[in-house]
Amino acid sequence: MSGRIESRLLERLDRARARGLWRRPRILDGPQTPEQIVDGRPVLAFCSNDYLGLAADPRVAAAAREGLERYGVGAGAAHLVNGHSRAHAELEEALAAFTGRPRALLFSTGYMANLGVLQTLMSRHDTVFEDRLNHASLIDAARLAGCRTRRYRHADAADLTRRLREPGAETGRLVVTDGVFSMDGDLAPLAELASAARRYNAWLMVDDAHGLGVLGRDGGGSCACFGLGMDDVPVLMGTLGKAFGTAGAFVAGSDTLIEALIQFARSYVYTTAMPPALASATLAAVRIAARETWRREHLAALIARLGAGLEHIGLPRPSSMSPIQPVVLGDTGRASAAAAGLLEHGLLVPAIRPPTVPEATARLRITLSARHTEAQVDRLVETLDRVLARESPGATGLESAR
Ligand SMILES: *Cc1c(COP(=O)(O)O)cnc(C)c1O
Repeated sequence: MSGRIESRLLERLDRARARGLWRRPRILDGPQTPEQIVDGRPVLAFCSNDYLGLAADPRVAAAAREGLERYGVGAGAAHLVNGHSRAHAELEEALAAFTGRPRALLFSTGYMANLGVLQTLMSRHDTVFEDRLNHASLIDAARLAGCRTRRYRHADAADLTRRLREPGAETGRLVVTDGVFSMDGDLAPLAELASAARRYNAWLMVDDAHGLGVLGRDGGGSCACFGLGMDDVPVLMGTLGKAFGTAGAFVAGSDTLIEALIQFARSYVYTTAMPPALASATLAAVRIAARETWRREHLAALIARLGAGLEHIGLPRPSSMSPIQPVVLGDTGRASAAAAGLLEHGLLVPAIRPPTVPEATARLRITLSARHTEAQVDRLVETLDRVLARESPGATGLESAR
C-alpha cells in the first residue's frame, strides 16, 4: 500500500514540475526588513506582510526578551490547562480594546483561528456564505466544519443577497469574508454585506488579516474604515503575523462568542498556547501600531507614489488602497519574466499566476511596508520600466503594457 502512495506522490510532483508550478522556500538570513539577504544575496524585497515595519522593531524585540526573562520559552501547556500566562491575558485585553470589542481570544495561527470559529459556530445543517476569493483557511474551515457552503461572486453583495434568499437556509447562517483580499488588495463592501446579513438574520464574520493595523487612522482595519461595530460584524478575526509583525491570531467579539470558542473550538482547546514571550512582544507591537500613526501615513504616501510611478511608465495604477499593490501583466510568461528580470536587478517581487489568480491576469504582487523609503519605491518603478522595455525590443515599457 505504501508503494501506491509513494508512486502517486511522485506523479503529482512530476506534474507540478512539468507545469511550472514548482515552489521552494528561499533562505532568509537576518531580519524581515526591506533590504535583506535571500539565498545568500542582497535583495530589496517587496513581498512581506510586515506592513507597519514592526517585525524587526527593536522595542518589540526588547519586549520579547523581557518576556523570555520572565516566562522562559515554551508555554508548556494548552491555555485551559496551565499555559495561559499573564502576558496572554494582557494581550487579549489590549486586542479587545484595539478592536473596540468586549473580549478577544488568542489562537496560535490565523489558520487555526478560522478553523476554530467555523467549527464552533456551524453545525451540519447550517450554511456558510463565502466570497469566492476568500483566503484558503476560510475555505478549509467550512470543509472541516462539515456545514453547507455557498460561494458568492467576489465582493458582490447583490449575489450574496440572492443566495441568502434561496429557500432551505432557515437554519444558522454565517457570511464570511476577507476584509482586504490578499491577491488584489481590494476591500470587501462591508457595509453592504453587513446590511444583507442583517436583513436575512445571518451573522457576518470578517477576517481582517490584511486590514488591521493598516487601514483607518488608528489602524482599526477594514471594519473601522466603514464605521462598522460589533452589531454589524459580530465576529472579527485578526492575525498578528502581518501588520503587528509577530505571529499568532485572535478573534474579537461578544462574551458569548468568546466563551463558546474557549469551550468548544478544538483548535483552541487541543493545542499548546503560543509562547508567552511572543504575547509580550505582540503587546508592545499593538501599542506601537495604535500610537504611531506616521506609519500609516508613510504607507499611504508610498502607495500614492507607486501608483503615480506605474502610471508614468504606462502601467495601470492599482486601485487598491492597501499595501497590496497588484500590477496585472496578463500573460503568465510575461509576469514570470518580469519577476525574473527584477530579481536580476536585486528586487524581490513575486509573480502570481493562474490558477492562484484568473487566466490572463498574471501579475506582480508588490507589497509595501512602512520601512520602505520613497527612493526604494522609485527604484522599483525604474527597474520595472527597464525590465519590461527589454522584454519586447522596439517597444517601450509603455507600449508593451497595453
Ligand atoms: C495570512 C492569513 C491567514 C492565516 O494567518 P496565519 O496566522 O498566517 O496562519 C488567514 N486569513 C487571511 C486573509 C490571511 O491573509
